[in-house]
Amino acid sequence: MSLVDIGANLSHESFSEDLDQVLSDAKTSQITKLIVTGASVEGSREALNLARSHPDLLLATAGIHPHHAEQTDDAAMAVLSELMKAPEVRAVGETGLDFFRVFCPRQIQIASFEAHIQLAIDTGLPLFLHERDAYPAFRDILAPHRDQLTNVVVHCFTGEAQALHAYLELDCYIGLTGWVCDERRGTHLLPLIKDIPQDRLMIETDAPYLMPRNIRPKPKSRRNEPKYLTWVCQFLADQLNTTYDELAARTTRNAETFFDFQRP
Ligand SMILES: [Zn+2]
Repeated sequence: MSLVDIGANLSHESFSEDLDQVLSDAKTSQITKLIVTGASVEGSREALNLARSHPDLLLATAGIHPHHAEQTDDAAMAVLSELMKAPEVRAVGETGLDFFRVFCPRQIQIASFEAHIQLAIDTGLPLFLHERDAYPAFRDILAPHRDQLTNVVVHCFTGEAQALHAYLELDCYIGLTGWVCDERRGTHLLPLIKDIPQDRLMIETDAPYLMPRNIRPKPKSRRNEPKYLTWVCQFLADQLNTTYDELAARTTRNAETFFDFQRP
C-alpha cells in the first residue's frame, strides 16, 4: 500500500524545526513519495534542495504562486528555467490565477501564468496549476495552449461543476485536498467527485494548510502534515463507494504517470 502527496509546502517555515520527524511520520503512514511545491523563486530553490537531500522520498516543482506573481520577470523565469534542468524538478508551478483574495493585480497574475505556460511548453514538463475563483479566465488562458502541453493538473480543486467539466474537457488531472472534508465549504464538491475519471484523480495535503476536518481525535496543532493524507484518501474512498486500498492504488498510479517516477 502506498500514497503519494502531490502537493506539500515543505519549505514552509512551520516545518523548519522538525522536518525529519514529519517525513518519518509520513513514511509510517505509507506515503512513499511527496512532491514539494515551489511557490516562489526562493521557495522553488528550497524545494529542490529538499528533494536533493531526500532522494528516496521527495521530488519538487518550481514556479511562482499567483500571490507572488509580482516576482515574475525575465530574471526570475531564467532562474526557474535553470532549476527545471535538475532531474528532481518534475513540474512547472505552482502557477495560475487566484481571484479570491487578489494579493496581486489580475493582469500581473495573468502575465505570470502565461510565462509559466511557455516554460512548460519549452521544457516539456507538466504544469502544476492553482485556480481559485478564477473560472472562466483561467480556462480561457490555458485552452489555446493545451495541445502544446504534456500533462496538466489543477491542484486543490475547489470550484463549481462548470469549471470541473471544463478542466476535464481540457484533459487536466484534478488534485483534491482536505478541502473536500470541510463541511463548511467543501460540500458542493461531493456530488462532483464521481465525475472525475479514475485515471485523472490525485490527492494531496497542501500542508501546512487545509487540515482535513474529519480527523479524529482532532490534532492539537493546526498545522497540516503529509501523514494526514490518509484521512483525505479514506474520505474520498467512502464518497466513491470504494475501498481505501483501491483509491490509494489508483491515485498513486496516476501520480506515478503524471510525475514520471520511472525517470531517474
Ligand atoms: Zn495552490
